[in-house]
Amino acid sequence: MKLLLRYLGHSDLRTKATPIQEITPDIIQLAEDMIETMVKASDDGSIGVGLAAPQIGRLVRMFVWRSEQTLPDGKFTFDEPEVVINPTLSNPSQETETLAEGCLSIPKLHLEITRPKNIHIRYQNLKGEWIEKDLEGYNARIVMHENDHLNGVLFFDRISASERKKIEPILREIKRKYSS
Ligand code: ZN
Repeated sequence: MKLLLRYLGHSDLRTKATPIQEITPDIIQLAEDMIETMVKASDDGSIGVGLAAPQIGRLVRMFVWRSEQTLPDGKFTFDEPEVVINPTLSNPSQETETLAEGCLSIPKLHLEITRPKNIHIRYQNLKGEWIEKDLEGYNARIVMHENDHLNGVLFFDRISASERKKIEPILREIKRKYSS
């Protein structure tokens, strides 16, 4: 089932999510629904590569994401979506990278965001197994963006105060248009 997205202005996007104690059938269903919601999120042509539980109104530490590959002909393809539960990020690289980012909860806003190029992640999968990975480039970026959502942080929080000031009217317009 495709879930309703929370948009900028909703307090769920600014609330710290709580750890998942037990992977119940409800959590498994939620993960499936979140994957469907991410994959189908294509209004305005945005490409859903990640979705965190607070974005659909569940304040638990879980997100789904998928790796995006560029083919030689310039088209995109996606790997199988992954479910990440109770993640901890560590060892961010000194080296950073600045790339355009968007967010399904903040339609049509794309900003250049600077983040570490590499990150280590430890998390549980849907079976409750602990998994560790080193991610780099865009994959690292997606995971950092989604992990921010679990802490009530949005991507434009990571730009400078002067840039933030410039986009305030756009943020106000998005809030006006999407808040119910
Ligand atoms: Zn987002």
